[in-house]
Amino acid sequence: MSNKSQHHPPNKNRNIHNLLAVIAFIFVIGSLAYLFKIHSSNPSRLLKAESSSQTNQTAKKSFENEQDQENDQDNINWKKQDETVKVPILMYHAIHVMADSESGSANLIVAPDTFESHIKSLSEQGYYFLTPEEAYKVLSENVLPNGNKKIIWLTFDDGDADFYTNAYPIMKKYKARGSNNIITSYIGKEGFLTVDQLKEMKKNGMSFQSHTVNHPDLSATSDNEQGTELTESKSWLDSTLNQDTIALAYPSGRYTDTSLSLAEKLGYKMAVTTNEGLASAENGLYALNRVRILPTTSPDDLLSTISW
Ligand SMILES: [Zn+2]
Repeated sequence: MSNKSQHHPPNKNRNIHNLLAVIAFIFVIGSLAYLFKIHSSNPSRLLKAESSSQTNQTAKKSFENEQDQENDQDNINWKKQDETVKVPILMYHAIHVMADSESGSANLIVAPDTFESHIKSLSEQGYYFLTPEEAYKVLSENVLPNGNKKIIWLTFDDGDADFYTNAYPIMKKYKARGSNNIITSYIGKEGFLTVDQLKEMKKNGMSFQSHTVNHPDLSATSDNEQGTELTESKSWLDSTLNQDTIALAYPSGRYTDTSLSLAEKLGYKMAVTTNEGLASAENGLYALNRVRILPTTSPDDLLSTISW
């Protein structure tokens, strides 16, 4: 082909025309591909469109809430900081009125009224509730949403059923978001969340991350077994909720150096501990501090603990 055209100089003009036509064609195809991409690049938007076709009122409502949140997220300008950013990662467990028989685990139970007082004051103070993906962005890129230092990541461990009945309605009321670290083999068992509840809450700003399959003490578990716990809980969450699970919470905050490297190797982007304090990249992304919330924590205690 190229030999032939060299021997036929009169074809030169035609070649140039052909070339221009090809360039124009590539341009048109490129533009169409770009337009197609911006319409289809957000798979969650597609899922939402599907979910909005349900006709019951709650489904519609949740669709609208989600749109609000997404609009907020779209408008965020993530501003690079000079100072190392700190993220208060709150650690809650159960949210219910404690029974007398539960005094042994009192520190893990916060009353709904107390919980609401926390969320209300965070909301009134203008705190921005991070998703796990946003928390990762903040920590790994040292950025703040619109330069706002008032950020918070609410985490709950264990996937207790009261997250759905007590915590979730309060969080929805204040448009707060949070994530529950679930023990995947407990889902559907008495006292724990169900798959349907996970799916419903996920549509309304909650997210679900890994707290392993069986909640073992990882510091007393073989490397092999640790690997299984981390891999299987992540793949269960990934497939059940159609997501990429990025965070792990070590059961009871117990872990070894092997746990940290396994978490990284097996596809988690970060992991939270029960070590007290505000999180920062200086902890290492696989050993992030959290702020333990006690039944006695007042909104003022909370606000003073998390300011930096
Ligand atoms: Zn736990």
